[in-house]
Amino acid sequence: MSVIKTFQFLSKEKIEDLANDLLMRMQGTPNFPNWPGVAERAVDFLKLGMVWDKIPNQNGRPVAARIYPTQRLIEINEDIPKLQQDPGFVESTIAHEVGHWVLHINEEEADGIVEQLELPLDCVTTEQPFLCRDVGERMALSSPKTQADWVEWQAQYFASCLLMPRYKLEEARKKYDLTKWSHLYALRKDLGVTISNFTNRLQDLGWIDIPKGSKQIYLRNTGFNR
Ligand SMILES: [Zn+2]
Repeated sequence: MSVIKTFQFLSKEKIEDLANDLLMRMQGTPNFPNWPGVAERAVDFLKLGMVWDKIPNQNGRPVAARIYPTQRLIEINEDIPKLQQDPGFVESTIAHEVGHWVLHINEEEADGIVEQLELPLDCVTTEQPFLCRDVGERMALSSPKTQADWVEWQAQYFASCLLMPRYKLEEARKKYDLTKWSHLYALRKDLGVTISNFTNRLQDLGWIDIPKGSKQIYLRNTGFNR
């Protein structure tokens, strides 16, 4: 067995279950789920470390973050301006790394006493919609093609479920009007996520529709009475 698990297809349901399972395990601990900042709490709960550092480009592309499994360490790239400026992007990046930890790393191996070749899992990113950046947009633009793309997609879908679990959103839509941008902005602030992550999650759940190129938000018929 190696530190990085062999690739497997994971359904959205499976990934969401694993994110919910983590949130459930955090209940009743000092790192109980709380928003905003649930990703940092997950990091603490999983006894991972996190540092800001300089990460060199990989194949000419900036790397947003990476994780060193055997050191249980997440590095966030301090040289990416968007990570300096946008707390929602930081939150999504941290949750994405937590996703890699839960989905792609064999914890027993990472903790093993056997000396391992320390290969970090790099998360290549750019300021353009692509890997590890803003998967909602990326998914809308192109579907994952390679196994590496799928690994990134899985981590980002996990991040989305961890940061915006259904039960939190169910609570929210009882109180807010999801067709109003001002309400969406207020909600995404409470959750600590970017507006695009938030609207992508709501669209992925089939709750709202924002036609391409439009600012109009339509409520989908979900059988839910407001
Ligand atoms: Zn990644």
